[in-house]
Amino acid sequence: MPAFPFDNSYATLPDRFYTRLAPTPVAEPELIAVNEDLAARLGITLGDDREVLAQIFAGNEVPEGAAPLAQVYAGHQFGGWSPQLGDGRAVMLGEVVAPDGARFDVQLKGAGPTPYSRNGDGRAWLGPVLREYIVSEAMAAYGIPTTRALAAVSTGETVLRERAYPGAVLTRVASSHIRVGTFQFFAARIDVEALQALLDHTIARHYPGAEGPLGLLNGVMQAQAELVARWMGLGFIHGVMNTDNMALSGETIDYGPCAFMDTYEAMKVFSSIDQFGRYAYAQQPQIAAWNIAQLATALLPLMPDREAAIETFTEAVNGFAARFDAAWQGVLSAKLGLEGAREENAALAFDLLARMEQGGADFTRSFRALSGPEPERAAEAWAAPGPLAAWLETWRARLAEEGVSEAERMARMQAVNPALIPRNHRVEEAIQAAVGGDYAPFHRLNAALRDPFNDRPEIADLQAAPAPSEAVTRTFC
Ligand code: AMP
Ligand code: MG
Ligand code: MG
Repeated sequence: MPAFPFDNSYATLPDRFYTRLAPTPVAEPELIAVNEDLAARLGITLGDDREVLAQIFAGNEVPEGAAPLAQVYAGHQFGGWSPQLGDGRAVMLGEVVAPDGARFDVQLKGAGPTPYSRNGDGRAWLGPVLREYIVSEAMAAYGIPTTRALAAVSTGETVLRERAYPGAVLTRVASSHIRVGTFQFFAARIDVEALQALLDHTIARHYPGAEGPLGLLNGVMQAQAELVARWMGLGFIHGVMNTDNMALSGETIDYGPCAFMDTYEAMKVFSSIDQFGRYAYAQQPQIAAWNIAQLATALLPLMPDREAAIETFTEAVNGFAARFDAAWQGVLSAKLGLEGAREENAALAFDLLARMEQGGADFTRSFRALSGPEPERAAEAWAAPGPLAAWLETWRARLAEEGVSEAERMARMQAVNPALIPRNHRVEEAIQAAVGGDYAPFHRLNAALRDPFNDRPEIADLQAAPAPSEAVTRTFC
């Protein structure tokens, strides 16, 4: 039998933090994938009975030591306030404590209706489950803080969206599922006792040593500044940065309509529901700051002197831009093989990005080619490479100024500019094949993405930018 090292702390918080309930069983669970490396890292013993694993990761059998529950939260969705959201289609089995002492939530996403389902069916279809599996594991391979995918199962049931699709359940692992929206839920109810309990729990879990609400706020700001900078360094667009989709841990959470850009465009949007481009690529830092301001507001009831706290928190939140700029400069400098988070390096990178947009450059292929022995070959990734040549000269001069050797430059750059991203059209292709019963493209894409910083001939087709006829321009939740 599989064994999970459960130690459930969220379940010891007051009743109004969650509803205890078990996942709703499904008709015919079948294991699509189980992440053995992640299981080992978590101290979970899987055993080798795939049928038993399918039962557990579908929610049909609740493993020993679990304390299943659905969490409640609130949030701003596209800027509009929703006083009550919550796990509408997810059930947390419990928390495991890994051999190294790290604590993780194990949650089944698509586990059936809960009291927070509103009008939803509590289920997920195969597409979003495979998308989250692929993209969250790719993020982990890049070293970016993220929730992980432990397993995917098909349910043998049908889920109705624009049409009928095969149902699936994803087992998501997160260092916690505490969101800005979790704080907002209790703040909106002026439930100071619950807020205090949540603050203490969150600090102990994610920011040990942080002092009070301001300490937490500063910790979360730094984590988010670094996270968003790292997303942007990969051309990643989260797509739905609602306050309920921002984790206090600093992990990327909620892979809905997310996407990696092919051709660089600062205001790029993929999400089919993001009508006004609120969550466009280049908007992400401002949105992160906006969300942080909501967190600060939610922490105010904990402050004895409200007027003074407003002043202190405002000053803190205003500091987000500087934190982001420093993180972004660091990311950009590294992408160009340059030293340190210096303003002139960032300026050089901004100039490149502007030219890339003008020249219709593929984001990932451009930076990867620049990382190689013949940087001028980046031109091959540009529709109109005219603006590249002059920039290359300035860049070379800058590298010489910093005394960066060719070997150093390439080593640095190849470690941060991936050879492979989960391109939309490849993710879609894997989903379409899986809907037709063929999981081979899904497994192949996942396997290739475990080693995303190494060029090799057998992944050339996965590295290629989409032909115009292949390009996927819209993503769905
Ligand atoms: P999201 O846009 O994924 O952040 O979800 C927003 C809210 O809608 C969350 O409270 C989800 O739990 C809920 N939700 C999304 N899809 C479903 C569904 N199929 N059934 C029930 N609740 C859902
Ligand atoms: Mg969400
Ligand atoms: Mg979602």
